Amino acid sequence: MIAEILSVGTELLLGDIVDTNSQYLSQKLSAMGIDVYYRSCVGDNKLRMMDTLHLALSRSDIVLITGGLGPTMDDITRECVAEAFDLPMEQDVIAAEMIRARYSKTGKQMPDNALKQAYVPQGSVVFQNSCGTAPGSATQKGDKTIIVMPGPPHEMHAMFEESVQPYLLHEDMETIHSRTLRIFGVGEPVLEEKIRDLLIVQTNPTIGIYVGFGEARIRISAKAKNADEAEALIAPVADALYAKLGDLIYGEGETTMAEVVANLLIDKNKTVATAESCTGGMIASALVGVPGVSQSFMEGHVTYSNEAKMRILGVKDETLAAHGAVSTQTACEMAEGLKRISGADYALSVTGIAGPGGGTPEKPVGLVYIGFCDENGPVASKYLFDGERQRVRQLSMLNALNQLRLALQKN
Ligand code: ATP
Repeated sequence: MIAEILSVGTELLLGDIVDTNSQYLSQKLSAMGIDVYYRSCVGDNKLRMMDTLHLALSRSDIVLITGGLGPTMDDITRECVAEAFDLPMEQDVIAAEMIRARYSKTGKQMPDNALKQAYVPQGSVVFQNSCGTAPGSATQKGDKTIIVMPGPPHEMHAMFEESVQPYLLHEDMETIHSRTLRIFGVGEPVLEEKIRDLLIVQTNPTIGIYVGFGEARIRISAKAKNADEAEALIAPVADALYAKLGDLIYGEGETTMAEVVANLLIDKNKTVATAESCTGGMIASALVGVPGVSQSFMEGHVTYSNEAKMRILGVKDETLAAHGAVSTQTACEMAEGLKRISGADYALSVTGIAGPGGGTPEKPVGLVYIGFCDENGPVASKYLFDGERQRVRQLSMLNALNQLRLALQKN
């Protein structure tokens, strides 16, 4: 089955907004085994929209459109679909009711044109919008299908997952399912080397390595009749990858490093405190972003100046004078002092040179020390990251969290 994605909206053509809907749909469709051969973008103009739609229908089995479903004059997607298939529009009673209910719930006056959104080309399957007012639809004619979804990404994502994906995955269709393992602390070449024997023999499932920010992902994709069969094919390959990579795998799917660490802390009933210099609170913020972490995250300090490192954490004047703020000794004293004042099970500290200024030949930009203190006393690890300021800060944050993850997984 060949699919084409059509994004509608003049703002997209002007570059005012980035077309993230296409990216999202491309990823979802390819994971389902549906080939996407074309993507197009068109403004809110009927003539050009009809041209683009006819072209899409001439070369693809299924066209997925996002945007242009609102109640205003320039929202013309529905009419264009009806015209392309030569169908009249009809009101979907449930969609109309839901639009009315949404307005009465929020207490807002329903504008006259709001019900325009409840009209769909005759015979369409209607997809209700759980996050907004405009419903989506699937309209078929012969062997061609047009699916329309709202433009706002959160509405579109919800509709795709709740309605469009099940619609596309009708029972007898062969489907692709995948599982993604997330790897931290090893580059792509080394990773490839470690799993070479599995990569050589792959057929179904296939194994793909993708490099992301500071991490790599391994996607295992299986083609099968249904999700259960695909999962059964994937499971032994995932087990083999776990056996080879061990704790280099920090999580699966969309789980973030901060979620993994926070959940380990919660599960193991452990506490942590942070003292950050160049990361300026990023580690604390990442942990606090995870619900339920309040029982484990005790306190976070941004000790940017030497004075703060001394006053709050008890870093010694002599240490700073002899070794500088960016040093093993300072990172260790920061972590040790933090453990003492917070009483946490683990104390994490970061001190580094994020750049662009401040580097010297001995201590270049990107030099970062991550301190760690548990009941065994403080240790510090040295890192040299390349890249600009925000990248150095992000990598420092991820490596600090990873250090904590490894300690938690050992205990
Ligand atoms: P509404 O009912 O809110 O009017 P709509 O279906 O008519 O929804 P548009 O008016 O085309 O959608 O877009 C609404 C907003 O959704 C845009 O201003 C933009 O913020 C976002 N949006 C639309 N299309 C895309 C896209 N392809 N990628 C990312 N964001 C998009």
